[in-house]
Amino acid sequence: MRNTRSGAAPVAPCEHEAIALRAFARLQMPIWIFDIDRSRIHWANAPALQVWRASSLPELCARDMGRDMSASVATRLAQYQADFQCGDATFNEQWTIYPGGKPVPLHVHYSGWALPDGRMAMLCQGERVGTQSPESLRSVEALLHTPMMIALYTLEGAPLWRNPASRSSVRDARETLSQRFVQEQAWQQLAAALAHAGEATLTMAVHTSAGQSWHEVSARRRLDAVTGEAALLVSETDVTPLKQSEAQALYLSDHDSLTDLPNRAYAQRAFERLAMQVAQSPAAQPLQAAVVIIDLDHFKDINDSWGHAAGDQLLQQVAQRLRGAVRHGDIVARFGGDEFIVLLCAPQVRDEIAHIHLRLREALSQPYALEGRQARVTATVGASVLPDHGSDFATLLQHADLAMYRAKAAGRDSLSFYQPGSTEQLRARTELEDDLRQALARREFMLFYQPRVGSGRTDGAEALVRWRHPVRGLVMPGDFIPVLESMGRMRELGRQVLEMAARQQVAWRGAGWPLQLSINLSSSEFEDPALVDELQQTLARTGCAAAALELEITESMLLADDDRPLATLRALRGLGVSIALDDFGTGYSNLAYLQRFPFSTLKIDRRFVQAPGHERVLTAAIVSLCRALKLRPVAEGVETAEQHRWLRSLGIQEFQGYHFARPLDVAAFEDYLRAG
Ligand code: C2E
Ligand code: MG
Ligand code: MG
Repeated sequence: MRNTRSGAAPVAPCEHEAIALRAFARLQMPIWIFDIDRSRIHWANAPALQVWRASSLPELCARDMGRDMSASVATRLAQYQADFQCGDATFNEQWTIYPGGKPVPLHVHYSGWALPDGRMAMLCQGERVGTQSPESLRSVEALLHTPMMIALYTLEGAPLWRNPASRSSVRDARETLSQRFVQEQAWQQLAAALAHAGEATLTMAVHTSAGQSWHEVSARRRLDAVTGEAALLVSETDVTPLKQSEAQALYLSDHDSLTDLPNRAYAQRAFERLAMQVAQSPAAQPLQAAVVIIDLDHFKDINDSWGHAAGDQLLQQVAQRLRGAVRHGDIVARFGGDEFIVLLCAPQVRDEIAHIHLRLREALSQPYALEGRQARVTATVGASVLPDHGSDFATLLQHADLAMYRAKAAGRDSLSFYQPGSTEQLRARTELEDDLRQALARREFMLFYQPRVGSGRTDGAEALVRWRHPVRGLVMPGDFIPVLESMGRMRELGRQVLEMAARQQVAWRGAGWPLQLSINLSSSEFEDPALVDELQQTLARTGCAAAALELEITESMLLADDDRPLATLRALRGLGVSIALDDFGTGYSNLAYLQRFPFSTLKIDRRFVQAPGHERVLTAAIVSLCRALKLRPVAEGVETAEQHRWLRSLGIQEFQGYHFARPLDVAAFEDYLRAG
């Protein structure tokens, strides 16, 4: 609205302006004033009216010049306006106007013109271009409108001329070429290439009016058409988006997307650098490098039972703690899964690793908050040293891996260095794991039963698992349960054991032997959130009564920080099964646990059952504790009649041990029952 009115009726000129306009009105050259803000001609003399083919000044002023204006012209005009405001800038341009649709090429000289209301307009002095070839007309137009930034500089880099794109890109019209480059050496680089080949194309960071960008800068020596002196013709294109996606692609190609840690490709290169440092270190003070593998213990359990989202969160938190535990300059990488790698270099690298391991254990042992719950993890660490254990990355990785497996077999949460010769051990271990996978699938596991003798007769039995190995014969649980645990497959065996025991209980009840069967749980089974549901389903499927089963757990399973163990035990008791605390006396023997958790039975470990005379007071104390807490004591590992008599004198009524019977297979157990 405002535009239309002001265009149709130009503001009354002030006195100074009126004098100037009267002078312009007498000149032969077309002159007009362009109101940049409103995209209207503010005033024009008679030759200008002719050029613009206008019938009158009001008619010309009423034309909306913004209608056909391209965005790039609008930006350029805004830039001119800013330049006029900053100082007495002037520009010369060849401009083609289209009055009535016909092209009219003009040389136009632009300068700033302050309007009476204080806004900056543009004074345009036109000069008709006579006989110009279509080529030159078009090339001038192209230069004007191209987004490519084109400029002419002196050999020293002072600006001589810029096209509109270049003008709007610089921070200051007087800026020299070297001031444009972010990096100081870029100018020298360009100058050197020019001196050498007469032209150069470089991609470099430049300062622009819109901040820093990446430009591809092409420069070549030319002669200035005005002075005839040597000059630099420089053209620039903005390659920032390309550069950014390049950098992004490079980053992605050597980083792990989950934890943001470097990946294998990056670690490989970093190792080469460390190996170089080692090779170049002085003989008097040699450096060593090391490859350290950190593997989370039981990560699979968290992933399986808490879900992958929780597993991912855990890995991210572990990555952060790892970064905090190493020295500045050490490299922490992730190759996938729950395996992390640290690469480092030091004069005594074993000592350094031991220090890092201490810090790492401390950092990792703090509880992790995962989806509102708390988790704890430990890690097993294996390390190999350059040059002692190998010279190339692949070998050192393999050896660190072997060391880590050895540490796992020895009980996890520990650090172990590669020991030459452990390759053999590892092969055996891998074979065992393969066999166990098959054994689970082929159901090669069976249960032995050890009678639990009450007052004079057998009232129950403990189910003890055995592996009937096709070649090795009967394998004892101590030889395969820890391996299955580390493979994350123990719960599968647990499910098979539970099913077999429940069916056996039902079969014996049917045969007139209503026995209570005890089943051992491992920690991964106990921590499995599906345990309670699965047990309930097994009971329903087999028809076994809950009261006819007892689950044995050990103290170490109760150590969690939260209430999960208590909740699980309560849920199990809610189903009607009994709970026994196994091996009491060997672990923490935390008396508070006895009160806090709903046990029905306490199995006194054979260490107390077979205790020498002077230690027997402890056994007596445990029994009186059971009485006070209303727990049923069961003595394990009774081997002699003397032990039996003494334990009876303490008030114990239930016993297990070789004195009565060894664990027996089903047929032998039934013979034992028949024999009474
Ligand atoms: P445990 O639950 O403490 O089982 C008692 C162990 O002591 C059994 O060893 C048994 O054979 C042995 N034993 C029984 N009486 C005597 C005795 O008078 N003297 C001596 N020296 N030993 C006796 P086994 O069968 O080798 O089992 C070892 C451990 O393996 C068990 O200890 C239990 O923790 C675990 N285990 C066995 N079966 C299973 C199972 O099905 N699931 C789980 N999670 N663990 C099991
Ligand atoms: Mg047991
Ligand atoms: Mg036991």
